Amino acid sequence: MENKTENPNLTTCPDCHKEVSIHAKVCPHCGREFKNEKAGEVRILLIVLGIALMVIGVILILGIPSCQSGKAFITF
Ligand SMILES: [Zn+2]
Repeated sequence: MENKTENPNLTTCPDCHKEVSIHAKVCPHCGREFKNEKAGEVRILLIVLGIALMVIGVILILGIPSCQSGKAFITF
């Protein structure tokens, strides 16, 4: 019935197009190195976004002192 196994732990090597474990750092078939540069970028982006949201939340909760002087740059 199953002619192609859809294993979530397997990915396709971009070089030899063979099934490789997602945990493998090097393709066992052709020796291609898998660098998770993109995943790292996304993680850093999420961390930066989280910090930014936290800062914005703190500012919203504590209020911006400069708003009270009439020079509000955030209008609701
Ligand atoms: Zn390969």
